[in-house]
Amino acid sequence: MKQRLLTPGPTPVPEETLLELAKPVVFHRTAEFRATLAEVLGDLQRIFYTNNPIIPLTSSGTGALEAALANSVPAGGKVICLIAGRFGERWKNIAKAFSVESINVTVPYGQAVQPEQLATALAEHPDATAVCSTLSETSTGVGHDIAAFGKLIAATPALHIVDSISGLGAMECRTDEWNIDINCTGSQKALMMPPGLAFLSVSAKAWGVIDKNPNPRTFYFDLKKARKSLEGSDTPYTPAHTLIRAMRVSLKRILAEGIESVWARQHRYAAGARAGFQALGLELFATQPNTSLTVVKMPAKIDSTTLLGKLEKQYGLKLANGQDTLKGKIIRLAHMGYIDQFDILAAIAGVELVLLEMGHPIEPGAGLAAAQRVFAKK
Ligand SMILES: *Cc1c(COP(=O)(O)O)cnc(C)c1O
Repeated sequence: MKQRLLTPGPTPVPEETLLELAKPVVFHRTAEFRATLAEVLGDLQRIFYTNNPIIPLTSSGTGALEAALANSVPAGGKVICLIAGRFGERWKNIAKAFSVESINVTVPYGQAVQPEQLATALAEHPDATAVCSTLSETSTGVGHDIAAFGKLIAATPALHIVDSISGLGAMECRTDEWNIDINCTGSQKALMMPPGLAFLSVSAKAWGVIDKNPNPRTFYFDLKKARKSLEGSDTPYTPAHTLIRAMRVSLKRILAEGIESVWARQHRYAAGARAGFQALGLELFATQPNTSLTVVKMPAKIDSTTLLGKLEKQYGLKLANGQDTLKGKIIRLAHMGYIDQFDILAAIAGVELVLLEMGHPIEPGAGLAAAQRVFAKK
């Protein structure tokens, strides 16, 4: 059976990138690899929309979140965490692990943190070193107004640290214009790569804070050491250089299309997926949905665990369940990275088939027709 990976991480990898991964392993301290690394980081600057340096890390995306916090916030410091789901909660948990006080601005699952809530928190906590936000809250499908957050934070001494792991490369994200001081992402969501690499951009304001922090509580993720090595297009420790060599290929694909065109295409994909599911009577879970993935609620009597099991076993369609308290209640369809409109149509067709099989009254083809009408519009 043909398998379709439609989870919000990992996502499918293009064939030409997979072929690159099949090549022999070479030594990494060479002029050739340094040139490849420099090229990849330059290409990433275009995708991040930044002129700031980008630091590569050998880790999953969470490594970049940890590096951002550990380097910039001293023990006993304070951060404001904007929490709209499991990944916002991760910020709070990282702060706890580093003995950093977290001021939590929390909204119920499915909702987005509003800029006014951040304004209040900033006014109440002028001593916060940073605000930690999430571009795409992958657990609920919510998208945040990072530009509005950035505007508020830029007027304060606090840093704006963003988890853009499932957003960057799919959703509009203008690191410099939006005043993002540390923008953290991972390889396996919208960047068309397997897991294993993380990247973060660091602004001049952030370097000022990092340089003044006498005690970065990390050895492996020391950003000052990484900055020093990057002067020679190098890394302090062995990089996952075969992944970086492959990433060069995926980034060329993204930049050949143009990042602004990718953002626009993602809008069409999200509009098609939403229309398709809504035509089946499935409600959107996010009140302020993003364009990387679409999350919908299950009708009463339909358990998403059963539906997703059937989709995978019978049709090779792998979508994601809800996490934690949302398990069984929602389904999450990713449409970022190397996924096209036919993958989305396949997912909608599969959901229609399984709903029919489970005795749920829908009109076969109704979801497909609604999605196709969106895709047919240019
Ligand atoms: C996937 C994801 C993460 C986790 O990244 P790992 O690569 O598993 O460490 C963090 N934040 C968001 C928003 C994500 O989508």
